[in-house]
Amino acid sequence: MRIVLLGPPGAGKGTQAVRLAERYEVPHVSTGDILRFVVAWKTEIGLLAKSYMDEGELVPDDLVLELLRIRLAQDDARVGFVLDGFPRTLPQAEALDKILAEIGHAIDVALDLRVPTELIVLRLSARASCPTCGRTYNLLASPPKEDMICNRDGSPLFQRDDDRPEVITQRLGVFQRQTFPLVKYYEDRGLLRPVDGQGSEDEVLERMTDAIDAVPGKVR
Ligand code: AMP
Repeated sequence: MRIVLLGPPGAGKGTQAVRLAERYEVPHVSTGDILRFVVAWKTEIGLLAKSYMDEGELVPDDLVLELLRIRLAQDDARVGFVLDGFPRTLPQAEALDKILAEIGHAIDVALDLRVPTELIVLRLSARASCPTCGRTYNLLASPPKEDMICNRDGSPLFQRDDDRPEVITQRLGVFQRQTFPLVKYYEDRGLLRPVDGQGSEDEVLERMTDAIDAVPGKVR
């Protein structure tokens, strides 16, 4: 199963991607997580990526594509993946189709998580993430059992630098300009499935799995 998750920052892509990956036994591939990992190395490439991320801008396509290509070439991604935060531009979507076509595969479904802007801002300002397993928590609606500690692996949670209000506004603008056109890209290919991203994590997950399970010809 090769799944793309679309939707604005704060729509719940990260949270749901982790759960979908468990359910369909495929890796969760988040370009945001990969980039944060690269940034932590403090190399020239890491510092370059950080300069875009801190401003809420997209990291250049060629750098992100190179990192994605390396990740998808790993053994665990052969059976499929849940892509979270990629593609974010039309050239990225086209490049992804090309990378997959080279190995005789294609995207099965693009789930478009839809959430009103007011809710996005609330969610992002209350978000904390686990650096180890990638799980995210809403500190108001679904906090971890122990303050700022991941329920799953006990790692201390962190709040992202780019979840500050001024950067959130910038990221939403970037989404509208650069990522929103992907909805049409996948719609034109018959792969788009809109999903209401409001409600509990379980409710949203169920809507997503219903949409995936309705994809014709897929073994689950
Ligand atoms: P995310 O964790 O998906 O919200 O991504 C955090 C930041 O990483 C974004 O605001 C971008 O600066 C950068 N980023 C993540 N994925 C991509 C991508 N596919 N293309 C360009 N930049 C990306």
